[in-house]
Formats: sequence, C-alpha cells, structure tokens
Amino acid sequence: MSESLSLSPQTLPGTCYCGIIHYTITLDNPSTDARTSICHCHNCKKFTGGNYGITTKIPRSAFQVTQGQEKIKVHETHEDNGSGPMKLRREFCSECGSGILEFGANAGDFIYVFYGTLEDHARGMVEPKGEFFTKFRDPWMPEVEGLFQKHEMKQ
Ligand SMILES: [Zn+2]
Ligand SMILES: [Zn+2]
Repeated sequence: MSESLSLSPQTLPGTCYCGIIHYTITLDNPSTDARTSICHCHNCKKFTGGNYGITTKIPRSAFQVTQGQEKIKVHETHEDNGSGPMKLRREFCSECGSGILEFGANAGDFIYVFYGTLEDHARGMVEPKGEFFTKFRDPWMPEVEGLFQKHEMKQ
C-alpha cells in the first residue's frame, strides 16, 4: 500500500531535548492547519535563549502528549509587549528545560508549540509563514524573505 499524501491526517511527532516527553500533532493538512512564525519580542528571546522565538500555532485539540506528561512543568506570567499586560503560559520539560508549548490568554483554542521540538520531517511540513514584533528584531538579523512582517502583535 502506498501512503496517501494529502487526504489522510498527518501525524507530526516531537520530543523535548532529553526525550522524556513525546507528543504528536495530528492535522488534516499541516500546510493550512498550522502556522509557524518567528517572534522577535523580548519575552521569546529570554525564554528560548535565542535571538527570536519560533513556534507553530495549531488547534489545541490536535496536540497530544504520548509520553512524560508528569514531567511537564508549567510557568505562568504576565507580559506586556506594548499592547497591554497579558497572561502567558508556558509548558516545558522539568528534566531538561526544553520548552514544549506556550499560549497567551487571547489564544482561544490554539496553542503554540516550540518548532524546534518537532522532528526534522515534521518541521518540513510546517515551514514559517511570518514574523512578529519585527520592531524588536536584532539589528544583525535580516528579514526572512517571503514571510509576512508584523511590526508588533502576535495573533
Ligand atoms: Zn526533557
Ligand atoms: Zn514573542
């Protein structure tokens, strides 16, 4: 039997850095049901330790932890990136510190999974579409060609 390319749901697997936590994302069409974006806000820089955060927005119902649920630690804070204080929740591995997902109070039924935790082939199915908070872009980092650019806000 050959694999169906587009009509059956796709399973995108991921893990934390140490491998204790495993998850899967199940989407009918990853290229339209998921939106990966780069965020240059201070908060993403601090949490990830990089010069931007990169996450994949998916419906919460598409996400399932398959191993290590008890190792997930939650951090909640209120952040203000210029559009007023907003509650922000992050979930990460308590063993290795790897971020798994995040979402703000206005995210509705969506969550933002940390893109780098997806396996290689899964990242290939959800390539970035845009950049947010570009006013905070580090000066040495160029715009990524072909991505939409938002001066601020993350929706
Ligand atoms: Zn871990
Ligand atoms: Zn951000």
